Amino acid sequence: MIIFKLRNMSFLKNKIFKSIKEIFYPKYHCPICGFYGVFLIYSPPTGKRKHAQCPKCKALERHRLQYCVVKKILQDRGASQMSMLHFAPEQCLHSIFKTIFKPYLTADLSRDDVDKKEDVTNLSFADESFDLVFASCVMPYIKEDNLAFAQIKRVLKPQGIAILTVPVIGEKTIEYPEPNPSEDGHIRCPGYDYFQRYKSFFSKIIIYTSKDFSKKYQLYVNQNRMDFSRKDMPLRPAVAGKKYLEFVPVCYK
Ligand SMILES: [Zn+2]
Repeated sequence: MIIFKLRNMSFLKNKIFKSIKEIFYPKYHCPICGFYGVFLIYSPPTGKRKHAQCPKCKALERHRLQYCVVKKILQDRGASQMSMLHFAPEQCLHSIFKTIFKPYLTADLSRDDVDKKEDVTNLSFADESFDLVFASCVMPYIKEDNLAFAQIKRVLKPQGIAILTVPVIGEKTIEYPEPNPSEDGHIRCPGYDYFQRYKSFFSKIIIYTSKDFSKKYQLYVNQNRMDFSRKDMPLRPAVAGKKYLEFVPVCYK
């Protein structure tokens, strides 16, 4: 009888321990590489984020959401072959996009590990060259973003799509007088209103957020944004909350 009770208690203890572990160390699926397990803390200068990074392919919240959106577009289009121009390619997405898109070209102004050195405000490609242009977190570096939008539209095929993700912080977009090294050289802090700028260039814009796909992929930014507006980032607004959405705007030519 005593042995039975002890066994029961040990079972209960294990169960409680497992539940506590699941609260603090939840497991998620990475849609890009198929990893299942605990995602890592990511700590850029702008502040640490919990459950952010897939330990296998290094994908962050925004990369996983972007991949979910690209997969949805491919499903909706049913296209067997689409060409892609991938600006400032992220390793985790590059690995998988190069197997999906043909032709697939990478470009960047300053990096050497790309197919073409390109200025997004003055692209060398012919008109109507690509089905899909993908440029994530590129616009916060580009002062004359209107030129970039015009160029991306120009190189898109008539039914082409551009995915131009930016990190959205706060309500209104804030332009900086000069690039801020503490924010990786960003020249602006995009707000919810930033996507309005896309409307002058593209016929239709659909904005996907972290809410649009399964929670199992962990697509939210778990961060404290109340301590923004600090000395090294004086213009970045403080935002209340603990969990923020990522946004992926899909722009149709
Ligand atoms: Zn992964």
